Amino acid sequence: MNKVEFIFDYLEELFPDAHCELEYHKDYELLIAIILSAQCTDKRVNMITRELFKKYSTLEAINAASLKDIENDIKSLGLYKNKAKNIKETVAILLQEYNGKIPREKDLLTKLPGVGNKTANVFRAEWYKEAEIAVDTHVARVAKRLGLAKESDDVNQVEKKLRKLLRKSQYIKAHHLLIHFGRYFCKAINPNCAECKLKDICNLYNSKFASKS
Ligand code: SF4
Repeated sequence: MNKVEFIFDYLEELFPDAHCELEYHKDYELLIAIILSAQCTDKRVNMITRELFKKYSTLEAINAASLKDIENDIKSLGLYKNKAKNIKETVAILLQEYNGKIPREKDLLTKLPGVGNKTANVFRAEWYKEAEIAVDTHVARVAKRLGLAKESDDVNQVEKKLRKLLRKSQYIKAHHLLIHFGRYFCKAINPNCAECKLKDICNLYNSKFASKS
């Protein structure tokens, strides 16, 4: 078994049910939830969107709401002014140009306000089941600790390296496994190294923690 297989087998053992934790029922609800999740936890976003999607049950309803209303609805989230503006603009474009249906193509998605490469990847993987790996802060941190990417790599470089290391059919699952591992086990501060089976191949453990164990 090679190193990559060893890592992902272990992550699957830890998180057999790793999946997207944002709550949604419709395509635009997922896209809005992802936009709102920038620098916020999924748990927090779900608390907001449960009410938001109850209040505005169609794209047209969001479009008809004022910017101020949307700001008020999401104001407990970080960057809420920017997010409200992006949501309003994106919803207007979706209705005007796409008949309310969210495009599958990445180049069209990333033209929508508030939708960058990572957001488009998450959406395409989750809604359209396209082979994508979205690299967020958890994925990047874990990939670097485990030597799947270099410390100096930016998110695009990490994404490129993960794509090379994995088969396309593994991308979506690998993305969820890395997020869950980073979110609940290999946290930024106080990772659970004592119980981790990846110590031997972990750069962080071997550089900083080995002498303490
Ligand atoms: S040994 Fe610690 S830092 Fe390394 S992967 Fe495991 S939990 Fe993360």
